[in-house]
Amino acid sequence: MKQKTNKFRKIFVLFLAFVLGTASLTSCGNSGWRSKEVTVIDDNYRTWYEIFVYSFCDSDGDQVGDLQGVISKLDYIEDLGFNGIWLMPIMPSPSYHKYDVKDYLEIEPEYGTMADFEELAAECDKRGIKLIIDLVLNHTSSEHPWFVAACDYLESLEERKEPSASECPYYEYYNFVKGNPGSDNWYQVGSTDYYYEGIFWSGMPDVNFASQAVRKEFEGIVDFWLEKGAGGFRLDAVKEFYSGATGQNVEVLTWLNDYVKSVKPDAYMVGEAWEGLGTYAQYYASGIDSFFDFEFAGPTGVVTKTLTFSGENNSAQAYAKALCRVQNAIREYREDAIDAPFFVNHDMARAAGYMQYDERKVKMAAPLNILMSGSVFVYYGEEIGMTGSGKDENKRAPMYWSADAQAKGMTRGPLDMEPQENQFACAEDQMKSDDSIYSFYRDTILLRNQNPEIARGIVARLEEITDQDVAAISKTYNGETIYLLYNISETEEKQVTMSAGQYGELEIAGYLSVDGGKVTMKDGVVTLPAYSVVVLR
Ligand code: CA
Repeated sequence: MKQKTNKFRKIFVLFLAFVLGTASLTSCGNSGWRSKEVTVIDDNYRTWYEIFVYSFCDSDGDQVGDLQGVISKLDYIEDLGFNGIWLMPIMPSPSYHKYDVKDYLEIEPEYGTMADFEELAAECDKRGIKLIIDLVLNHTSSEHPWFVAACDYLESLEERKEPSASECPYYEYYNFVKGNPGSDNWYQVGSTDYYYEGIFWSGMPDVNFASQAVRKEFEGIVDFWLEKGAGGFRLDAVKEFYSGATGQNVEVLTWLNDYVKSVKPDAYMVGEAWEGLGTYAQYYASGIDSFFDFEFAGPTGVVTKTLTFSGENNSAQAYAKALCRVQNAIREYREDAIDAPFFVNHDMARAAGYMQYDERKVKMAAPLNILMSGSVFVYYGEEIGMTGSGKDENKRAPMYWSADAQAKGMTRGPLDMEPQENQFACAEDQMKSDDSIYSFYRDTILLRNQNPEIARGIVARLEEITDQDVAAISKTYNGETIYLLYNISETEEKQVTMSAGQYGELEIAGYLSVDGGKVTMKDGVVTLPAYSVVVLR
């Protein structure tokens, strides 16, 4: 089923095309590609925007972001071309980041109310945006009533009496042992002989997934949020359900996937299995739609290496090979695996720093990430090249809407954050400029949305194109094949022959060029300026 989004923009674009008449028609294929129709398919190959609500947008003047703030920025998100939103945890929690939940069925009061959430879900639905929320199953807060009750029970237990779940059901919700295991990650319950597992820290006791009662609780929690309008879940820390035991983790995820899909067959789930490719690929056996693609992300991932490291292993050719490598690794476990590429997230330093704030590189990184097959995730603020590294709080700084820190919507950020100096202009200013990082991101997502094969296509390398600075791939989906050429040379124009004899009659469907130069095609020869990408079909 095809669903058209961006109706207003499309009407406007059609109007413009009408006014410009043949002028825009003849330029189509050059910069005129932007006026082509956007057709977004309503499936789980989306372009997602990750939001840390606390630092995103404040609606009520307390300088803490909230759900109404997110609602007020839906136009901004939609205009960029996103059709999915991932909210980091929104449930009540003692921490600023809220990855330690103390009530799974409520909204963090700083963020608003359940009515706000329902309003957000309905507003997203109207716009064809799927809304997923962070679901933290591995552990609860030590302030969660389940844990408090279990500890109270153990502390009141008569000496020499064995604890039992029949007396306190919550006793089996966590991993308690008698006697000090003598290793890190185990913490004493008061002054008793009992210890509990907390793989992250003492404030996050690990949940025991061997308990059927725990699984029932989470089934109820999943029901609750799907009913409130969540379109799925981002699953935190799935490799720690049974730390070091991938097979057992896959079993837990199989249960969860089967349950969620039985309630809502089109729900989308993406898991965080922070491991190397060989391991995270195995998680696809669970049936969960996607797992984050750690291979391409971060300061030493493929995107950064391609743009900032030298040598053959970091060439454009190596980038194209990596696309195939990841695709083949995950499809080995499930043919319909949906890769979940991202460049950075809330646990990683912001990408502009990896590029030493070189604006050309910051821009070029966008298509290397966003034109990947799968469901692509962009962390808020990356589209304007925000700053943030070092301690976690710095990576979760206030969305830089305005140069005026007191302007409407601006947040104060985490209390322990060090002051962040943004190197690029604020969103408000970048939105006014056609050659800002913001505009480059918007164009990149537009190109993705115009060509459904970009998100859904199976990638193959064009091995006959051997220039080390050129990545040349095809993507095939639903019987259609398109071609993408990336010139990853910082300085050199490249010519690539795409003869009609070999590839059929191709035309430029659209392109991105960091310096604003045109990509052209004549007699089968494509000319690409330095740092440009073209889609041919
Ligand atoms: Ca607020």
